Amino acid sequence: MTKVQRPPIPPEIKREVRKRCGFGCVICGMPLYEYEHMLEWAEVKRHVASEITLLCRLHHGEKTNGLLPKENVIEANKNPFNLKAGVSKNHLLHYSGKNVQLVLANSVFQFNDFPENSFFAPLVVDGLAIVGFRVEDGKLLLQFIAFDEFNVPVLKIVDSELIYRTEQWDIEWIGQKLTFRQGQRKILLQLVFEPPHTIRMVKGRILFNGIELLIGADFLFCSNNSSFFSGISTTNCPVGLAIGDPVPNAGAGMVFSGIPRYGFDRKAARKFLRKCQNEARLKKPSI
Ligand SMILES: [Zn+2]
Repeated sequence: MTKVQRPPIPPEIKREVRKRCGFGCVICGMPLYEYEHMLEWAEVKRHVASEITLLCRLHHGEKTNGLLPKENVIEANKNPFNLKAGVSKNHLLHYSGKNVQLVLANSVFQFNDFPENSFFAPLVVDGLAIVGFRVEDGKLLLQFIAFDEFNVPVLKIVDSELIYRTEQWDIEWIGQKLTFRQGQRKILLQLVFEPPHTIRMVKGRILFNGIELLIGADFLFCSNNSSFFSGISTTNCPVGLAIGDPVPNAGAGMVFSGIPRYGFDRKAARKFLRKCQNEARLKKPSI
């Protein structure tokens, strides 16, 4: 008799488990986790969302080694840590050193030999630093904020401590990549953390105060006025890219102000974007 291979957990079941568990370990809320079958796989030989929970490496290890009773896990699964607070347990990102950069689509905003007690804001929207770095007591601290279309913050990084709201459709953190989804194939934001000095915004939308910036592979698209930005590079400018108003009074590498708000035609903007993308595709030489 051949041994039955354990098939992988289907993605939709994984998402259901993540959502039900508040996107974190059910015991401690840590946003980095593994999938744990509460009923032993060897006995049930099935993947059912309600029978699977999330545990961080520490608690998974304790469970495997018999130091965390199965009953405790089942109990925690009924009332996951993160759902009690509505936010994930804060998680420290290990940024350090004096050279930092934000890679946003194919634009790069960097600061080298970053001075003590100063602030570098690679991306500012309406005067708010969406991404920021500062050095305090020799420590590099990352700041970040992302909003949904209702101007509600969905993710915050305060002094390198990451926290997210748990009422999202999906939040998936695999390796360095953190993805927020608002539905099937509907990415709100995808970030890649590359400590000690790089953060990448690779997909999704940057939203704030009615401004929408779409992140493409090789462009940024501002839906409000259908304008493209591509391949911007700034070095040692206190502000990299500033969009909206007020314009920061610190030296900004690139400024785009006077952006129209809520009244613009989003459908027409998307249509224009698709048309430009199709034209660009046609122009590319086929290999
Ligand atoms: Zn845990």
